[in-house]
Amino acid sequence: MDYIRVDADGQLTLTQSTEFLFLPSCLYGFHNTETTVETAISGRTVYCFVGTLDIPEVERLCSCGCRMHINTSPEIYLRHINIGRDLSTLKFPHNQLRCPKCGATKSQYISFKADGHLITKILHQYTCDLLASGTYTNKEVAELTGLGKNVVKEIDKERLQGMYTTDNGKKLIKP
Ligand SMILES: [Zn+2]
Repeated sequence: MDYIRVDADGQLTLTQSTEFLFLPSCLYGFHNTETTVETAISGRTVYCFVGTLDIPEVERLCSCGCRMHINTSPEIYLRHINIGRDLSTLKFPHNQLRCPKCGATKSQYISFKADGHLITKILHQYTCDLLASGTYTNKEVAELTGLGKNVVKEIDKERLQGMYTTDNGKKLIKP
């Protein structure tokens, strides 16, 4: 993640309810335990929503019938929608499961992660909506979403492929 901490303790504390909004997140299973304020390399403020992700018992069930164990939990960062000019990101341990019986492994499923990108589905949808509007250049979409230009380009390519092709992008549909 391209950011640096401004100070050792950038953690926000919920002491004054007049200073905070409680918003629906639509990030099912994610528990925001603390929020820190960081500064991106670009100088923009980043709200880092630190937390944990529930792991349903059914997801731990291996195809061999055994219960999988948590093997490692590397931290994952997922870019989320901006708050005005400020960026936001989720940060949580992403459990890697392993079956003690047959040795099968898998990553914990993240229902709110966009396929193929380290961003949330909500941010992905917002990016697609901006691109579909036809009002903004890719550079402007990058600025509005806080995503890199190359990521925006990739999302736009996937979006157009989805609109004008079938069979996983292999067959062209006439517009
Ligand atoms: Zn197994």
